[in-house]
Amino acid sequence: MNRRDFSRQVLALGSAAPGIASNQAADYYQEPAKKLPVRKYDVVVAGGGTGGVVAALAAARQGAKTALIEAKGYTGGTVVEGGTALHSFYNLWKAFPGVTKRHVVRGIPQEIVDRLAKAGGTSGHAEMSKGFNYDSVCTAIDTEIYKLVTMELLEEAGVDLCVNTLVAGAIRQGSRLTGAIAESRSGREAFLARAFVDSTAYGDLCAHAGAKFTEPNDYAACNSIGMANVSLEKLHRFLESHDALEQYCEGLRDGKPGQIVRLQGRSVKLPPEFAKESGRLGATMTTTTVHDDYFMFIKVNYKLPVSPTSRDAVAKAELELRRRQLKTVELFRKFVPGCEKAFIARTSPSLNIRRGRLIACDYDITLPDVLEARHFEDDVFVYGFHDSAPRMQIKNGGTYGTPYRALRVAGIDNLLATGMMITSNHDAHMSTRNTVSCMGHGQAAGTAAALCAAKNCGTRDLKYADLRKALENSGVYFES
Ligand SMILES: Cc1cc2nc3c(=O)[nH]c(=O)nc-3n(C[C@H](O)[C@H](O)[C@H](O)COP(=O)(O)OP(=O)(O)OC[C@H]3O[C@@H](n4cnc5c(N)ncnc54)[C@H](O)[C@@H]3O)c2cc1C
Repeated sequence: MNRRDFSRQVLALGSAAPGIASNQAADYYQEPAKKLPVRKYDVVVAGGGTGGVVAALAAARQGAKTALIEAKGYTGGTVVEGGTALHSFYNLWKAFPGVTKRHVVRGIPQEIVDRLAKAGGTSGHAEMSKGFNYDSVCTAIDTEIYKLVTMELLEEAGVDLCVNTLVAGAIRQGSRLTGAIAESRSGREAFLARAFVDSTAYGDLCAHAGAKFTEPNDYAACNSIGMANVSLEKLHRFLESHDALEQYCEGLRDGKPGQIVRLQGRSVKLPPEFAKESGRLGATMTTTTVHDDYFMFIKVNYKLPVSPTSRDAVAKAELELRRRQLKTVELFRKFVPGCEKAFIARTSPSLNIRRGRLIACDYDITLPDVLEARHFEDDVFVYGFHDSAPRMQIKNGGTYGTPYRALRVAGIDNLLATGMMITSNHDAHMSTRNTVSCMGHGQAAGTAAALCAAKNCGTRDLKYADLRKALENSGVYFES
């Protein structure tokens, strides 16, 4: 049957199934009301990615009965899908002679790195020997070990880890959120709690709860490639021979110290045919790796015409990115010594992007806050990395603070936000959205949510002194 015959047959049978109303402007289906099974917690964290894992660990360790709801079958989010290295646990001391080296991010994020190290899943904080105007260290990870280690940590902390479960709605009473509605193969359920953290990257729980948001669409979407069967040493020599090596770092690789763990090349300095085609494909060449013969990160970009919350636009981008990935690997095989027999060993299950929704919070971190190294009376986290360095660096290799207010979702009493969904200014966001920053937000938000649940108070009624004490007791570093 062709499409025309099929349409005729459908018309003959009648256009609408029961419950479907139709008019010229819009079709809709009136969903019947339904009783949902209820699960009760102190804290619910939506999204088990970069920030959400840390938020759930922090909440559970404060004694809160905590659920973590994650759409995929594993934890880690963009850390294990999109990124190259964890930026950054240190201040930019190497770029500022005379400035002291400071390990500014500690607490749970550092504990995750320690656990990764025990499992052979990280280069450690390896010092950069070229490109240290960008970062002073490179912390490369094995993304598969990261998934396992974070899931085990959550299990040990007693978090109810609900993977393969999508947050699909919210229950709001006045200015309070009382529940998150989740969908899984077990059905639709209501997760009730006293305090909530949205770490979904896209701010799904905030949007369902009616929080204010915008959709800036200010980044390209990306699906990065992990490419295996590559000689990193040959690739290194190739980049050097074209004066195209921008960043270089040696660290632990497959258990051996002093191995290449980070290489960043500048395509424009490479043979013109390669440079032109990789520009057209939106491909850049950075690797951070913890394994021999493995080039962990070739970024393939595609700029969506509309916000990444558009399901149909994203579907087109997913296909386009996969076409570009194969062409990119063919390009490397043809032009780059050491990559002749390379193949795609890893892609992300779905595209990644640096921003979806931007959620309105009580405070919006500004670019001067970041670049001028400002601190606040309600700092909950300090950070010293900017992804646009050396063009933009934090003053004197210092740090800026994330104020607690910047995590409180405006207009809702008991909802906190973490990660890439906060900070409106694009250049400030180029700092706050990095992995280690999102992890720091997570520890602050999870701790605050647990304290609010214990005191049965709203996020604005929590005493900063109590939050600060709890964070310090859990190893979080503060500058003053
Ligand atoms: C291509 C790319 C490269 C990058 N490279 C680097 C880099 O090299 N170094 C660096 O430091 N930073 C890098 N970043 C930035 C950094 O990785 C992200 O900003 C950061 O990881 C975001 O953390 P998050 O906690 O906000 O979100 P995520 O880590 O994305 O976590 C969100 C989680 O929520 C889940 N989720 C989403 N919606 C729902 C829902 N409705 N219900 C349940 N679960 C849901 C997702 O599955 C995911 O696990 C990169 C980003 C991209 C896109």
